[in-house]
Amino acid sequence: MSDLQTKGAAFAQKIFDDIREMSRDVQGVSRQAFSAKETEVLNYLTDIGRGLNLEITEDRAGNVWMTLPGQDRSLPAFVSGSHVDSVPQGGNYDGLAGVTAALTVAWWMREVGFQPKRDYTVLMMRGEESSFFGKAYMGSLGMLGKLTEKDLNLKIRDGSCTLGEAMQSCGIDTAAVSGGQPLVDIGRIAAFVELHIEQGPTLDAQTQARAGIVTGIRGNIRHKAVRIIGQAAHSGATDKPYRHDALMGFTELVQRIDRAWDRWLVKGEDLVFTVGVVKLASSAAISVIPGEVTFSVDIRSLSADTCQRFHDLMVRYAEEICQERGLKIEFDPALLTAPSGVDAALSDTLQKSAEAEGIPCMRLASGAGHDSAVLGNNGVPVAMIFVANQLGSHNPHEAMKIEDFMQGTDILWAAVSHYDN
Ligand SMILES: [Zn+2]
Repeated sequence: MSDLQTKGAAFAQKIFDDIREMSRDVQGVSRQAFSAKETEVLNYLTDIGRGLNLEITEDRAGNVWMTLPGQDRSLPAFVSGSHVDSVPQGGNYDGLAGVTAALTVAWWMREVGFQPKRDYTVLMMRGEESSFFGKAYMGSLGMLGKLTEKDLNLKIRDGSCTLGEAMQSCGIDTAAVSGGQPLVDIGRIAAFVELHIEQGPTLDAQTQARAGIVTGIRGNIRHKAVRIIGQAAHSGATDKPYRHDALMGFTELVQRIDRAWDRWLVKGEDLVFTVGVVKLASSAAISVIPGEVTFSVDIRSLSADTCQRFHDLMVRYAEEICQERGLKIEFDPALLTAPSGVDAALSDTLQKSAEAEGIPCMRLASGAGHDSAVLGNNGVPVAMIFVANQLGSHNPHEAMKIEDFMQGTDILWAAVSHYDN
């Protein structure tokens, strides 16, 4: 690492350490969306921005924008950032890595006296995680005026307040965030780049490429509770021909889907499939044939078409299996989230920046959703840089190596400084 990189790493490490201390919980960190803790973290980061002489504004959704003025202020800005909140007892880097990377780039600009052609803005968003209110991307949806009355009435997980009340306690204009009109001028954003930890094992398994450039953000089709209904009966007194075992039907279904998934991957489809929740009836017992199984479904792909076709296949398998076994199946309504594209030209800029810096990187899909998807689906050219991390994410053991983080931050720095050349 050069001297400048070493100093940048120290600048970033202090932010990670201070904020970990500030938001420490019984295990991991907790930075609840729209809480006093989230505000405290934002204030800490805003003070750093003030120290760098950045222009600081807060939008009416509570997100903070910190701008290093460019040479031509009429040009729309290059924006980079992420979210400052976390899941309960989560890791320190989900979200914070992107904010810290963006801020480190601003620090570098000041350190070397670099003024970009256009404004460079660090964007720090609130409330990205769904774990407290059951709603994700509240900061980015809020700044677009796209939260709904129903969203604002969502209760926090301990029931103590609604999302609207929590937002108001942070001084947020709840009429504006649900007003249907953007609170910020989207046309003033030339590009939005979000650096994020990968949250999966792919990059960390690489010896060469420890950074990634995202090819797109997977969409999904979900069911919260699909029911297979059979017949509960005595486990000893009911011979095989007379059984309607809901659990046997369920396991046959997931096995068939698992084999089809392998075939689809061989064909080159982008696809992941998960049954995250399985429940038997409350009357389930060791000596009772399962009469009912309820399970969730989560199908994700970069292609909405792949999601839909795999979903159709699952429904066909389910109907065939249930017919053979004398079972009934009931699907609750499917919930759809569209995949989000990244901007091809901006992603190429990132790729070329990485090459210019001699940083090996790979292209990969984002399995998790991000604020970038919200902005991208609303007309902002977005791209994402992924950084290898260890031990997964959304858990207190989440880890990241500072040297991996610095590679991603270097790509961002190169992209910003070369953006207008
Ligand atoms: Zn995140």
